[in-house]
Amino acid sequence: LDDVTHPVCAGLEIAGQGRVLPLAAGRADDWFDHNGQITKRPVRALTLSALAPTPGAHLWDIGAGSGSIGIEWLLAGRDLTVSAIESDPARAARLTGNAARLGVGHRLTLIEGRAPEALSGLPVPAAVFVGGGLSQALLETLWLLIPLGARLVANAVTLESEALLSLWHADRGGELYRIELAEASALGRKRGWKSAYPIVQWSVVR
Ligand code: SAH
Repeated sequence: LDDVTHPVCAGLEIAGQGRVLPLAAGRADDWFDHNGQITKRPVRALTLSALAPTPGAHLWDIGAGSGSIGIEWLLAGRDLTVSAIESDPARAARLTGNAARLGVGHRLTLIEGRAPEALSGLPVPAAVFVGGGLSQALLETLWLLIPLGARLVANAVTLESEALLSLWHADRGGELYRIELAEASALGRKRGWKSAYPIVQWSVVR
């Protein structure tokens, strides 16, 4: 398959819904088969903005889950590539299915294993995303492995990983955001703001 099968070009129906894939990152969650652990659409849009894909760039998507981050990276341009690292076999199978269905499977390489051990021997990245498996050991390994000028973006949802990102931000700089989103949802017969867990996002250029 090549990108000529991109649904926008070929007018393909996806999942029988006859929908056209939008061109901007932050596509609806239901473009990706997932088990609920997907990076949600607004946070995904902010994450792709921080990762800042450029022509020909290679991404490591660590803890790739459904693959949504890596796949949106691939959809940003026809010559981008991804190494998707995922330790859970069921999620690994799901992410390759998602990439194939969206026409970018040939530019994604799955590494089924645990970071940081699984990172050796991969192509040199222009950017790294940590969506799972965040730890002191992983950050130390990444800091040694990635080239100067590469972008590192890490999302944290637990207090423990947030604390880690706070320390690394103090030492290495970059930008640290807390993303707090609430969505209107039914509250009895009226509506209320339903808050998502805050996401702390650190992005830095090595
Ligand atoms: N960004 C993903 C969601 C990631 S959820 C998406 O949008 O779908 C975090 C994922 O990290 C889980 O699938 C989990 O299996 C994986 N994971 C956790 N620790 C890991 C590690 N050390 N190495 C590789 N994958 C890991």
